[in-house]
Amino acid sequence: MTEPCLKVSDLHVMYDLGASGFGKRKRLHAVNGVSFEIAAGETLGLVGESGSGKSTIGLSIMRLIEPHSGKVTLGGTDVTGVSRKDVRALRRRMQMVFQDPYSSLNPSMTVAQLLEEPIIIHRDVPKAERSAMVGAMLEAVGLHAGYAVRYPHEFSGGQRQRIAIARAMILHPELVVLDEPVSALDVSTQSQILNLLKAIQAKSGTSFLLVAHDLAVVRLMSPNVAVMYLGEIVEAGPSGRVYDAPAHPYSAALISAVPFPDPERQRTATRIILRGDLPSPMSPPSGCRFRTRCPFAMEICSQEAPPAVPVQGGGTASCHLHAHGPKLGGASLLPFIKERLTTPH
Ligand code: SF4
Repeated sequence: MTEPCLKVSDLHVMYDLGASGFGKRKRLHAVNGVSFEIAAGETLGLVGESGSGKSTIGLSIMRLIEPHSGKVTLGGTDVTGVSRKDVRALRRRMQMVFQDPYSSLNPSMTVAQLLEEPIIIHRDVPKAERSAMVGAMLEAVGLHAGYAVRYPHEFSGGQRQRIAIARAMILHPELVVLDEPVSALDVSTQSQILNLLKAIQAKSGTSFLLVAHDLAVVRLMSPNVAVMYLGEIVEAGPSGRVYDAPAHPYSAALISAVPFPDPERQRTATRIILRGDLPSPMSPPSGCRFRTRCPFAMEICSQEAPPAVPVQGGGTASCHLHAHGPKLGGASLLPFIKERLTTPH
């Protein structure tokens, strides 16, 4: 079997929030036992509301946040097991593009300096060759090679994100974590950047982990999707199956909020409204973390965390409905979920 580009196994990330009143440490369990894989040249979309832990996963893969436990491997290399010094060398193989192109580029550096920096850190390349690499990379992201002498403030948001992508791609990494790469941009610029990312991936074979709250963006970019709720993946699988026949009540609610481009379809679409607020990640509900907002909650849901079980059409869902409820597959569960979630009870 081919080695996946990225393998994340049982990842736990905790934030230490300092001492509580009784001398005990307060901890926020931001990521709770997350596992997934990304094949070489593929994209996985990680979706969820703000506070679901999806950005924390991206940061801990990069070791910008230290995971509490679990394992991350990049092309078979143990990322979590290496020393902080050796992580630096691994960064040549994995890069990150952040949400805000205004703050992610050092304003005191020219574009040439920004793009040359990773080359200087990781490779021994003569100056003339570095300049040629910078020019070629700028053109690959749709910018004029002559822009290398300019500073970030001289560019629009979309152009800055192109520069950030060029910087991430210049050493041909195996993996790029894209953390909300278009959410700070206007809609027409968003589609240009997404098309650029797709074209770059087709050429380079780089794998992407796309972290986003916008499900429409993820569907466009990712053949596979994982849905997160309060630090856990509740459903994962091929995007077509998850979007058309979600097998977890939370995924069904999230997906029902995605607008249809066709106004007639939008007019007749059913929007599933969830009850209650997102519980505090400081004290998540016992058993299934979604149970306080789930209209199907059964006794077992407060007692046992649901395991990830395979669902019809591919992928998995972590919901007791599939083992203890109506035992319906993905496609047949959707109408059942919609009926219950949209009927007052
Ligand atoms: Fe709802 Fe129970 Fe399924 Fe959780 S496990 S989503 S509470 S039915």
